[in-house]
Amino acid sequence: MKNKTLLSHRNIEPENGVLYLVGTPIGNLADISQRALNILGKVFYIACEDTRQTKKIMQNYEIFNKMESFNSHNGFKKIPKIIDSLKKGNSIALVSDAGMPGICDPGEELVRCTILAGHEVIAVPGPCAAITALVSSGLPSSKFIFEGFLPKKKIDREKILLGISICEKTTILYESPHRIHKLLKELKKFCGGSREMRIARELTKKFEEHIGKNIDEIIDFFENKNPKGEFTILIKGIENKKNKNIDNNDLREELHELVSLGLSLNSASKYLSKKNNISKRTIYNLY
Ligand code: SAM
Repeated sequence: MKNKTLLSHRNIEPENGVLYLVGTPIGNLADISQRALNILGKVFYIACEDTRQTKKIMQNYEIFNKMESFNSHNGFKKIPKIIDSLKKGNSIALVSDAGMPGICDPGEELVRCTILAGHEVIAVPGPCAAITALVSSGLPSSKFIFEGFLPKKKIDREKILLGISICEKTTILYESPHRIHKLLKELKKFCGGSREMRIARELTKKFEEHIGKNIDEIIDFFENKNPKGEFTILIKGIENKKNKNIDNNDLREELHELVSLGLSLNSASKYLSKKNNISKRTIYNLY
């Protein structure tokens, strides 16, 4: 049914000098909005993370338009050219290979520079793996932390893993299939095997799967398997321990364990203090 108000709303047709961030499917080609298709067909050109990938969507919907590559290798150099074109009054669309541009995909810098140059940036929303996984996970979804891919450097990685272990909100991570075993091991080490967790695999695709109840169960699931496909990981937040009785013996035991694993007494106390909402001094004195 055609809704007059909706169709006459601004942004159905591309406006001059505007950068459009267009969301594209994360698997299922049908997950693209009418507005997205319209904008892709009518902008001056489309900046694509990978033109071959975008071509599949264009061919499927019989849209013909110019495409230029804009990715993590060449994107930075191309920003001035895009801004120049916007200055001339052209409208440009940015798409990534899948999902929303700027979410672990190229776009952030371009958006920032475009706004600084005084041009408007308008998002045409589409699927995002993180949000799609979150809302179908059964975990609390109104407040969450998105960490994307964990950094590779051990010290940065462990800092975030420590943060996740004491986080009270659902944490969302992206990971590639060949690193999933490593990530699961780390999550078990930092959060414990009983921590509630889900993995959303191949969202919106034929073999979509929602795996697991907790870290141990997911580790078992992947044992002796060669994981394939795309994965989004969701870790439930810890309970707010405020006003709860905490057993000093358990705390002391955990403190000794962390120290024996190599953490300094200071760092271990700090960690347990944050985790349990108890002063660092109190924890320190248990040692
Ligand atoms: N921009 C995208 C978005 O809006 O979701 C994310 C791009 S990021 C480079 C790719 C990662 O997103 C994958 O490694 C995976 O962790 C997650 N992902 C993408 N598609 C997915 C899918 N269909 N199912 C599960 N996770 C997916």
